[in-house]
Amino acid sequence: MDYEAVIGLETHVQLKTKSKMWCGCANVFGAPPNTNVCPVCLGLPGVLPVPNDEALRLTVLTGFLLNCEIPRFAKFDRKSYFYPDMPKNYQITQYDKPSTANGHVEFEFNGGLARVRITRAHLEEDVGKNTHFERNSGVDFNRAGVPLLEIVSEPDIASADMAYEYLNALKDILIYGGISDCDMEKRECAAQGREGTRRENRNQEHEQLFWRAPRAGIRNPAPNRSGEEGRQADPIHTPLGRRSRHHR
Ligand SMILES: [Zn+2]
Repeated sequence: MDYEAVIGLETHVQLKTKSKMWCGCANVFGAPPNTNVCPVCLGLPGVLPVPNDEALRLTVLTGFLLNCEIPRFAKFDRKSYFYPDMPKNYQITQYDKPSTANGHVEFEFNGGLARVRITRAHLEEDVGKNTHFERNSGVDFNRAGVPLLEIVSEPDIASADMAYEYLNALKDILIYGGISDCDMEKRECAAQGREGTRRENRNQEHEQLFWRAPRAGIRNPAPNRSGEEGRQADPIHTPLGRRSRHHR
């Protein structure tokens, strides 16, 4: 029996704003550790987060560029989990009422025009960064609270090559729109996949059956592996449009 891959990608993109999502701290790369922090992004008690209207504008603009619907109402929720680089122990994220939904991206592929449907592009916030030294570990919260857009695709991607072209098209759109620089060296973008299989020459019934079966999520590409090698080794380890040795 022949099977074909079905891949959906979740792409995280840092928005090009001057300040963070819920406070006035600078959104810049490369500052000395813990110099762009305040009680809000450190999650101290008694603070009042205020949304960054430029981040909201860029999210809606992304929705238009990805042919999405823009609902008149969107909201944020708290997603609670513990991780050392997340000082609040929860992330403020759009969940069931995102700012954008039901779009698509079209791009040239295999001599024709391919289309990948976009489930949603929702706004959330980034976490800090752990660094592990020989005898101890450090946490830099400069990145905690930076606005992060998660662009979720439907499982319309059939191969690693198609994923690569989809991510290239997405990157071009986001750079053109002034939404993000998509610089992987600065961890401004990353993609992770959900992968499954379905039977070729399927009918609707089979598609339902097999899409529910083997499905996996993988986070980061292996370090020190070039994008090209990663793409060949695993279809969902596709870097966002660049062949970098340090993509994370
Ligand atoms: Zn802050």
